[in-house]
Amino acid sequence: METVNQKEEYVVSEIESSIKHLSDERVKHAIVAQGYVREYVMDFLRSRGYIEIPPIIISPLTDPLNHPVYDPRIHAYGGDMWITKSMIFHKQIAVQELKKIFIMSPNIRLEQEERSATGRHLYEFSQIDVEALDKSREEMMDLAEDLIIYTIDRIKKEHPEELKYFHRELPDYKKPFDKITYADAEKKYGRDFEKKLSLEAKSPVWLIDIPLREREFYDREYPDKPGILRDMDLIYPEGYQEASSGGEREFELSKILERIHKKDQTEEQFKWFIELAKHGIKLSTGFGIGIERFTRFICGVERIEDVSPFPKIPGKISL
Ligand code: ASP
Ligand code: MG
Repeated sequence: METVNQKEEYVVSEIESSIKHLSDERVKHAIVAQGYVREYVMDFLRSRGYIEIPPIIISPLTDPLNHPVYDPRIHAYGGDMWITKSMIFHKQIAVQELKKIFIMSPNIRLEQEERSATGRHLYEFSQIDVEALDKSREEMMDLAEDLIIYTIDRIKKEHPEELKYFHRELPDYKKPFDKITYADAEKKYGRDFEKKLSLEAKSPVWLIDIPLREREFYDREYPDKPGILRDMDLIYPEGYQEASSGGEREFELSKILERIHKKDQTEEQFKWFIELAKHGIKLSTGFGIGIERFTRFICGVERIEDVSPFPKIPGKISL
């Protein structure tokens, strides 16, 4: 049966709206700004000795994520591979040898239809994915703060015309950014606190010590606080919400297995990673910052599709 998304009228109207979208002056300015964001975050990481590695698009091993998405599987050569949802495992592996790495990585996460309304979700987007060996969460938070401050500062200095176009005035954020634990945020603002925390914040703020139920199995637990992870999300101020997620990664085989089971996942699904852990991996820590969300925040635009030339909004097949 032909579905709505395949009908000829659908294609005609989508092409029309795509052309209209690209001709919108706001969209053009936001695309230009996104180009600067990409350039500056990479310049910054290179200046700190981080090595760029290319993204991986298909693999038998990818991020399980902690929320349901449609899962594009590719069957070939007598086995299954998936379109990667993040570089998480590849960066954990590559960093063992390369020590400090980053990837400007396209991500496909086929989010469920409800997420079309958030203004913050695209099912195809990019993130700057960063990882370093033998570094603590605190050291990587410091790096992420420098990265955010550097990028905003450079746009303000080198391309004030783009911020002016959007009537956007951004303060000079100072580090260290404030931190709040997940438990304290829940106590202060209630269960769905992210939006409230973000609206109240005057500067980007760290959400730390996230419970395992809210995250994937691969981040490291506090040795003395079972169920609480040594991870960190960065939240933008002004209601823009999540900037980044990251954490220290688990490297002990027994803990990896235990948490795969706790999350009701199967060893079969992660057999490539388990095999690697058997060979031995060392502690690494990293984070990923969504590029479209960063651009949206910098320009102060409401909807994320306005920073993307070909926005993929959950629930819709788009060019
Ligand atoms: N790559 C992870 C993600 O996409 C972020 C991280 O933990 O580094 O959520
Ligand atoms: Mg994440």
